Amino acid sequence: KPMTNGHLTNGMSSGSTERIQVINDEKQFTPDLSTQIGRWGLRDAGFDYNLVAVFGSQSTGKSTLLNRLFGTTFDVMDETRRQQTTKGIWMCRGKDMNVMVMDVEGTDGRERGEDQDFERKSALFSLASSEILIVNLWEHQVGLYQGANMGLLKTVFEVNLGLFGKAAQGGTHSRTLLLFVIRDHIGQTPLANLQATLIADLTRIWENLAKPTELQDCNLSDYFDLAFTALPHKILSADKFESEVLNLRTRFVNKSSADYLFKPAYHKRIPADGVAFYMEGIWEQVQTNKDLDLPTQQELLAQFRCDEISAVALSEFHEQAKSQKRPIESGRVVEGLGAMMRNWRTDALTRYDRDASRYHKGVYGRKRADLIASLDSTLSPLFLGQLKNLHKTCLVTFKKEMLDGLRGESYSFADVVFKAQGRCVKTFSEGAQEALVEGADWAWEDELESLKEEVRAVADQCRKDETKKMLNLIEKNFKRHISEPVELSLNKAKADMWDGVLQTFKDTLDKSEATYLAKAKSFNCTEEEDVSSLAALRKRAWVALRAKIDEQTADPVILGKLRAHFEERFRYDDQGVPRVWKPEDDIDSAFKKAKDETLELVPLYAKIAPVDPSLEYSLPSEATDALSTEEFDFPATLVVLTETKTLELTNKFRRDADAYYVEAKRSTVASIAQ
Ligand code: GDP
Ligand code: MG
Repeated sequence: KPMTNGHLTNGMSSGSTERIQVINDEKQFTPDLSTQIGRWGLRDAGFDYNLVAVFGSQSTGKSTLLNRLFGTTFDVMDETRRQQTTKGIWMCRGKDMNVMVMDVEGTDGRERGEDQDFERKSALFSLASSEILIVNLWEHQVGLYQGANMGLLKTVFEVNLGLFGKAAQGGTHSRTLLLFVIRDHIGQTPLANLQATLIADLTRIWENLAKPTELQDCNLSDYFDLAFTALPHKILSADKFESEVLNLRTRFVNKSSADYLFKPAYHKRIPADGVAFYMEGIWEQVQTNKDLDLPTQQELLAQFRCDEISAVALSEFHEQAKSQKRPIESGRVVEGLGAMMRNWRTDALTRYDRDASRYHKGVYGRKRADLIASLDSTLSPLFLGQLKNLHKTCLVTFKKEMLDGLRGESYSFADVVFKAQGRCVKTFSEGAQEALVEGADWAWEDELESLKEEVRAVADQCRKDETKKMLNLIEKNFKRHISEPVELSLNKAKADMWDGVLQTFKDTLDKSEATYLAKAKSFNCTEEEDVSSLAALRKRAWVALRAKIDEQTADPVILGKLRAHFEERFRYDDQGVPRVWKPEDDIDSAFKKAKDETLELVPLYAKIAPVDPSLEYSLPSEATDALSTEEFDFPATLVVLTETKTLELTNKFRRDADAYYVEAKRSTVASIAQ
């Protein structure tokens, strides 16, 4: 036989019929039980499995019986060689049944004069895990109260009290069935009599048991159910033996039969995937002769298994969560992220609950809370990343919608902002809510507030740009409207020339202001903004007017105006007919008159001064235009021509006029000469 880790295994390859030496003759626990349970296909059975163990003297046909009942493959002593089978505990899965069968060998130490250490340990071990303990004995052993069997049973009872005694007082222990199988039953003594004898012996053992005071009044029936059956002689009544074994087998198999043996009350409630760890823990306690405290063992088992189950659920979950880590980190808004996260989370919890809920409730609950915290802390960065990305894309979309909305002529600014803002908040809120996971303590409202703030800032900037654009347009129109009337007024140099200019200015400015106010209403401009825009508009209008005046009073232009004025008076008569100078004409007087009258115009042009004081205009001097911080000295702008300029123009004009005079003189000389 091959050995692994000092444990014997059978050579059979088919997983479901493999057997394993759980405890070897060195009293060591196998490291392979968990794997073996997996190979038997029982790992995921939960509570849907049974565990049965057999006890009895050496060579009483125990293994033979188990193999017949459960289709197991335990070693049977070779009749011809009568060799001693190995000491230890073997386990095998029942064929086509969710049953783990333990064949406990070498429990007859006292018969062989050995120490009873193994007997006691294996009794503890079997009782802590098995639902049914088959006690196998020959018919002729019945009634031998002093026999090895009775010693064995005494040990079983003692051990049981230690294990379940206290639990029984609380009323929440699990019972164990003792199934007595009487072998080589000849039939002379009816089973009922044998049964009565055994019960009497058992009761006697129980009563003589040294019980702790608090358990003094406990009855055997508080812990054990008893069942009795007999089998004919295997060799002398071979056929009857086989058929009776088959009968007994149905009681292990047929769940609907009235005498079905695996009653739920016997189950030790160790989930199949925890059996290996649990048994190892029990054996360790047994080996070190520590007090075997089953509740503690169950809690240790629960901690170990819940951690394992949680780790499996977590690793699958992490794999899923990882898939969206990169997209989120790259700034993408992952469509349906919330649904995904909720699915992963639910999957992980479902997986955990399915396996872990079978364990100690308190431990299961605590580990579940840990798992949830761990799940949520993995999901939280995804959620926060999604929020951040949503925030960014919503803001980009908002800006784009603003730009698109403000294209063309016929739009209401307030409307464009309102709609784009609404869509932005809606998209974000919906996206954020989608990404929420029930139960996780996450918030998105702060992010929304910060988005709203940024949206407001963008809208404000847009409004400022729009206002600027509008002011520019109004300014352009203003310039267009004043151009001709101002030119006309300044061409006719009269005393009330400036009244005309200022009237035009005021009328046009009024219209411009009205245009601004009408438009600004749709911008939701603040009063403050309106005040500053209007001030800017007035200043710009004034600057535009001044530019127009400057254009009209530039040297060549104003000299032209003066010349035209002079010529009109000097070279034409009152009827507008060109003069032809004759020698008797008083050229000097005419020249002087025309010149003086023309020179009178220069101071008129020099300063913006209406005759009607109500037309006087004034602007505050400070830099009222929000768009420029240039100093603005309004009174200075009323001066069109400085004194130096006036003098320069006067001189220039005089020279021009003198030329006309000389020309007039020459023309008379010429006419005389003709
Ligand atoms: P174990 O040591 O209790 O497991 O006993 P085994 O199953 O190895 O059987 C020991 C010997 O007893 C073998 O030679 C079997 O053939 C024989 N045997 C098995 N069952 C019976 C039975 O019911 N009656 C008799 N007389 N012999 C049996
Ligand atoms: Mg055997």
